[in-house]
Amino acid sequence: VARTRMVVVGGDAAGMSAAAQARKRRPPEELEIVAFERGRHTSYSACGLPYYAGDVVKDWRELVARTPEEHADQDIEVRTRHEVDAIDLEARRVRVRDLDGDRVVEEPWDVLVVATGSQPLRPPIAGIDLPGVHGLSVLEDGIELRRAVDAGPGRAVIVGGGYIGLEAAEALVRRGVPTALVEAAPQVMNRIDPDMGELVSQAVRDIGVELHLEEKVEAIEGDDRVRAVRTASRTLEADLVVLGLGTRPAVGLAESSGIRLGPSGAIAVNPRMQTPHDGVWAAGDCAESHHLVSGQPVSYHLGTIANKQGRVCGINIGGGYATFPGVLGTAVSKVCDVEVARTGLSEAELEELGLEWEQAVIDSTTRAGYFPGAAPIRTKVLADRRSGRLLGAQIVGKEGAAKRIDVFATAIWNRMNAQEMVNLDLSYAPPFSPVWDPVLIAVRKLAEQVERSLGDRL
Ligand SMILES: Cc1cc2nc3c(=O)[nH]c(=O)nc-3n(C[C@H](O)[C@H](O)[C@H](O)COP(=O)(O)OP(=O)(O)OC[C@H]3O[C@@H](n4cnc5c(N)ncnc54)[C@H](O)[C@@H]3O)c2cc1C
Repeated sequence: VARTRMVVVGGDAAGMSAAAQARKRRPPEELEIVAFERGRHTSYSACGLPYYAGDVVKDWRELVARTPEEHADQDIEVRTRHEVDAIDLEARRVRVRDLDGDRVVEEPWDVLVVATGSQPLRPPIAGIDLPGVHGLSVLEDGIELRRAVDAGPGRAVIVGGGYIGLEAAEALVRRGVPTALVEAAPQVMNRIDPDMGELVSQAVRDIGVELHLEEKVEAIEGDDRVRAVRTASRTLEADLVVLGLGTRPAVGLAESSGIRLGPSGAIAVNPRMQTPHDGVWAAGDCAESHHLVSGQPVSYHLGTIANKQGRVCGINIGGGYATFPGVLGTAVSKVCDVEVARTGLSEAELEELGLEWEQAVIDSTTRAGYFPGAAPIRTKVLADRRSGRLLGAQIVGKEGAAKRIDVFATAIWNRMNAQEMVNLDLSYAPPFSPVWDPVLIAVRKLAEQVERSLGDRL
């Protein structure tokens, strides 16, 4: 039997999960696996980068789950500092540039996995490419940012208040760097509703970050390196700038090679993570997902999704059968001691879909009110107006708040309605929650709301 050659483009979460799963199922005599990675590292935690910059994680090596040598031990060959710059779908070859030797070679494949990830948005703002302006995406970026923070910058400016911007702000504050954050929207964390986002904006101010909302960056100033960030209203001095303007799927290579993109802008795949092109698979941030509540194609960039998609892809390539069912966009983050979480759809997203919903917002505590350390937690839940089916949830609160989102995610996944959730047998002891957990208080209120609205209409 001829040996199949699997080529992986991108050596992080999705690509290496696919490689590992395929290897588990097919021995080296049957399947050769070669992964090309532009950077120097493989299987690193991009999610840990802000914590390395903030010195919570002391050594970047701790962020690496598997080095190229460890992959080699599993008979997976990884060529780092090798960039794939073209894919020939007909001839089944990739063109690979060796970034150190500046050599270009053609490599054949029978099975190709595109796992090129996502990339930070870099709008064409004057000065955005000046030295001292950092994006945060791959491990090298994290190492560079850490080095820049170690050098003791006088002032930092974060551009964009998504979760990466906020985690970077926390890191800088921890390191004692006076930090400002500029966000064009009226709130940070745009993907949650304004009433919840407001609490996060306050948390950002509370840790000492100078927050400027509804201000767009017009230019980044400096000669040989960054000196300031200019908005319509002010000029903020900066020796260090971190871009947190969001990400887009890294699909340049796929697109220029004729690989089909879906409506979300990410690579179109079926539930087995196959593209419409024979032998070509895609997984991770560069691949499209199906939203289980809206039913729409989405491009979310989350490690949770990338690992699962990579696994599904690898099982299938290895001769097994697996499907990736879709996503809810469940995500958590924190700004120092304030935790933020969401799952399902926000009000803005429901509005856009033309859906009608009921909602409940409740304030409670993370532990029994009398228990030391009890802290505020706000929980918001959204349900379909008629059926009570849960559509989304958001949580902002102190320690122990955020992971409660997983109860909502499980309920939405199983298409539960608010009424069915009221008596869920959730745990309780004073150090962990009030006897009525905030999750239960919120769904109780929501169920009442749904009943009332049904009654109003009968
Ligand atoms: C700062 C930060 C914090 C995050 N925090 C969280 C979190 O808390 N929770 C969460 O769920 N997710 C988080 N994420 C998102 C998560 O890290 C990503 O979803 C995940 O890494 C995606 O995995 P991937 O394999 O699809 O892509 P990536 O991790 O982006 O890997 C793609 C790899 O492909 C390589 N590559 C790209 N193009 C080529 C090419 N042409 N040739 C060769 N190599 C190429 C890149 O160098 C890169 O190493 C965070 C991301 C960042 C940047």
